[in-house]
Amino acid sequence: MSRAPADYRLVETALQERLPDGTTRCNLCLWRCRLRHGQRGFCQTHVNRHGTLYNLSYGIISAVDLGAIEDKPVRHYRPGTRVLSVGSYGCNFRCGGCHNLEISWGLEALDDLARGQSTAAYITPGELVAAARRHGADGIAFTYSEPAVWLEYVLDAAAAAREAGLYTVYVSNSFVTDEALERVAPVIDVLCSDIKSLDDAFYKEICGLATVDKVLGSIEQAARLGIHVETRTNIIPGRNDDLLMLADIAAWIRDHLGPESPWHITRFFPAFKLAHLPPTPPEIMWQACEAARRVGLEHVYVYDDKGCDCARDNRPVADWFDRDVEILHEVKKCSAACCGDEGVLLKKYEKGAGG
Ligand code: SF4
Ligand code: SF4
Repeated sequence: MSRAPADYRLVETALQERLPDGTTRCNLCLWRCRLRHGQRGFCQTHVNRHGTLYNLSYGIISAVDLGAIEDKPVRHYRPGTRVLSVGSYGCNFRCGGCHNLEISWGLEALDDLARGQSTAAYITPGELVAAARRHGADGIAFTYSEPAVWLEYVLDAAAAAREAGLYTVYVSNSFVTDEALERVAPVIDVLCSDIKSLDDAFYKEICGLATVDKVLGSIEQAARLGIHVETRTNIIPGRNDDLLMLADIAAWIRDHLGPESPWHITRFFPAFKLAHLPPTPPEIMWQACEAARRVGLEHVYVYDDKGCDCARDNRPVADWFDRDVEILHEVKKCSAACCGDEGVLLKKYEKGAGG
């Protein structure tokens, strides 16, 4: 398995076009950044070198986890199976409550890659699939940041996964272009997308160009392309917890994805710029669930877990790819008395999130 940074290579951005004004436009996500030589896109992942755009993070895995597909959350596709989740660096949003800063925005990691100073593990698509099979996973999920930003790797890894008989999951904020969706549709089985709010102001705060219409349009397009779609709303106290608006999200799902389409309501835990807010009161989540059922949504799932901030250690991603499945679970397991459970892997990143 490749480990040395020497294996690392720049890969041309999958969707780019040269414009008459001398810039090159990236068409992976709806930022559609226009870049001159030397410039990097909003996500910091794509760079223009002499008119051609390159992805800096191809094959660089920022996080890995093995767990139930229900944790994505996805409940109506291959329930009871296990999925290997991977992330890479770069996101097209800047959510104030992001729990994944180091592994999603990955600004330092991307700077190191741009300077040729990275020592991150380089994992080829074939190695990723081999690791998934060795750990007994039934599928691979691309998650932890917006996968459109590292679409080149997603396309190659998803195709290799399909060839090996694994299913593929794409966890998204859906601020992505139709062109990107058309590229992933042949190799992605499931889209799990956020609907963060129906208020443009909410989206504007985390991404200057994002609007509700654009996000919902992408979700609908994914469904039209035949991808199995499930949606999620993370309810943040005082930010998107208005019950009427939450009922409207449910009504939108009913009307555009169907009354049987699953909606996952997850709990916010304080982090980063929203560290001053309390965790979501479970009552609001259950009230949203009731409201959704009243408007006719048939499958609403509430995740009022207690969360855990006690994990403090991380192991290099490269270590995990060499371990067997039992050790992978040990790495995940939280040893603190407060939970003693699995599923705390990502919480450790809060420590470095400045919250
Ligand atoms: S992926 Fe999105 S944010 Fe990144 S360079 Fe392309 S258009 Fe810009
Ligand atoms: S879309 Fe997700 S990964 Fe990206 S900034 Fe927002 S919460 Fe973080």
